[in-house]
Amino acid sequence: MSAIMCELCAADGSVARRDILRLATIAVVGLAVAQHAVAANVADPPKAENVLSPDAALERLMKGNDRYVEGLSRRHDFKHEREALSKGKNPFAAVLSCADSRIAPEYCFDTARGDVFVCRVAGNFASDAIVASLEYTVQVLNTPLIMVLGHESCGAIDATIKSIKDGTILPGHLPTLVTALAPAINAVEAAPREVLANAIRRNVTLNVEKLKTGAPILKSFVGGKKIQVVGGVYQLRSGRVELLA
Ligand SMILES: [Zn+2]
Repeated sequence: MSAIMCELCAADGSVARRDILRLATIAVVGLAVAQHAVAANVADPPKAENVLSPDAALERLMKGNDRYVEGLSRRHDFKHEREALSKGKNPFAAVLSCADSRIAPEYCFDTARGDVFVCRVAGNFASDAIVASLEYTVQVLNTPLIMVLGHESCGAIDATIKSIKDGTILPGHLPTLVTALAPAINAVEAAPREVLANAIRRNVTLNVEKLKTGAPILKSFVGGKKIQVVGGVYQLRSGRVELLA
């Protein structure tokens, strides 16, 4: 890297110095914007009711799921929230969910806009991009809770089980999912009758563990008890989210 920089300097020192100055300016401005965002959210959160401890955030999330299960979801007044949310955001929970169209985190926890920071990918696993997104919501938006949300009859995990069992290579980019989900399937091989259900649960717990211990920024927030990372499995028939220990 330094050798490349020296070659650039030698070729046109003034241009290289200008570029370096420009990059430095961008970095300083970016840092200032991020600090301002943190300050704005701490001093004047657009949704004061979303400033919660990790335990209170989990309680609120699960009470929302109770209402959803019972068919008692609230009427959310989107019109009157727009003004507050145009100035910022402070979601009280982040959810890493499968992309399955039957799972809708905002609905199943009976939440409104600005309440839940949702990351979705088939098989609800923590890729680098997902970890970066969660780091953002925890560090910049002060979100106190992350839930990894798996669900019954997950097609991504089922396809991965079949691919591993039959030794077939799925088309297109699907092998990316197989690689990401294989550890959960390999971990439950000993219980063949319940492979799918067990792999779904194991995939949730493995990704909870990855976020808690394998992602340094999130790990430091967990260590400081500023956030909680939990796992859940959505039951298709009842709509109930079962918390995993
Ligand atoms: Zn799924």
